[in-house]
Amino acid sequence: DSIANQIAAGEVIQRPASVVKELVENSLDAGARQIRIVLKDAGRTLIQVIDDGKGMSPADAQMAFERHATSKIKSVDDLFALHTRGFRGEALASIAAIAQVELKTRRPEDEMGTWLKIAATKVESQEPIACGVGTTISVKNIFFNVPARRKFLKSNETERRNIFTEIERIALVNPDIEFIVIENDLQTLHLPPANLRQRIVQMQGKNINQQLIEINEDTTLAKIHGYISTPQYARKGRANQFFFVNNRYIRHPFFHKAVMTAYEPLISASESPNYFIYFEVEPDTIDVNIHPTKTEVKFENERALWQILMVTVKESLGKHNAIPSI
Ligand code: ADP
Ligand code: MG
Repeated sequence: DSIANQIAAGEVIQRPASVVKELVENSLDAGARQIRIVLKDAGRTLIQVIDDGKGMSPADAQMAFERHATSKIKSVDDLFALHTRGFRGEALASIAAIAQVELKTRRPEDEMGTWLKIAATKVESQEPIACGVGTTISVKNIFFNVPARRKFLKSNETERRNIFTEIERIALVNPDIEFIVIENDLQTLHLPPANLRQRIVQMQGKNINQQLIEINEDTTLAKIHGYISTPQYARKGRANQFFFVNNRYIRHPFFHKAVMTAYEPLISASESPNYFIYFEVEPDTIDVNIHPTKTEVKFENERALWQILMVTVKESLGKHNAIPSI
């Protein structure tokens, strides 16, 4: 059917960063509290995600790599079913088709875990193994069997940046989850469990703390919360600007304009503020570009939300400067 076509295999996994995103989201779905991401050569030779989630039974472990085996898609709307991240039943199958995959997993109720090896979609071996509760998935030599794709990979620096972009987006909606990144045997990132403000500081550095202004608005169309930066800290050039809807990162140029409009009287045209803005809306009031890897979203009440966002930011800036807003 058309949905299946739209999410055709290779589309889901385009680069090491896609693997990281899919594996980490699975770990979150499994209720992990700590997620370790191990990388070699910017994910080119190894991407390993180790979680302390609920694990899988031996039968589930084997099933997990079958295409559509776990698909929860019933309609197009479900493609961005925002109450659960895992909605395609496609990611592990896609990964197993283009890499050498190993899985170790154990549920708390099982005495022994399962150790599974897969290459080019075929289960090569499955045996019991003693291991901790949770799941470790190792993805080796991405695109080993797809030379065209392998050639398409960018420099390690670029692939690494893409990976960290995904990790950052995920970490910013899961501040209470611990993330550890180990690259070529060195720990390069450690985010202990935190609240949102602390998580932003962990990611952006201590200097950002003093410039954060909390925003909070509750309307019938949306709840909006998060942090914006004081105008004094707006800088020339690129800033850290994030929108999330229902805990998913989105790009939204139109809402970006709303934020900039609120800042306009306070900063010069070449400056950009930092912002971390979270929307919560009813899932049926947004429409997502059919492709699951896209970050564009259309809101039903876009104009009204533009206004709400603009006023929320403006008032928060006004309150912060103790000057009357509007
Ligand atoms: P989806 O997440 O859309 O269901 P995936 O291909 O990403 O599809 O994963 C397939 C299934 O494998 C999941 O539904 C889940 O049951 C299981 N699974 C994958 N990763 C984990 C994990 N880290 N911990 C527990 N179960 C997992
Ligand atoms: Mg998944």
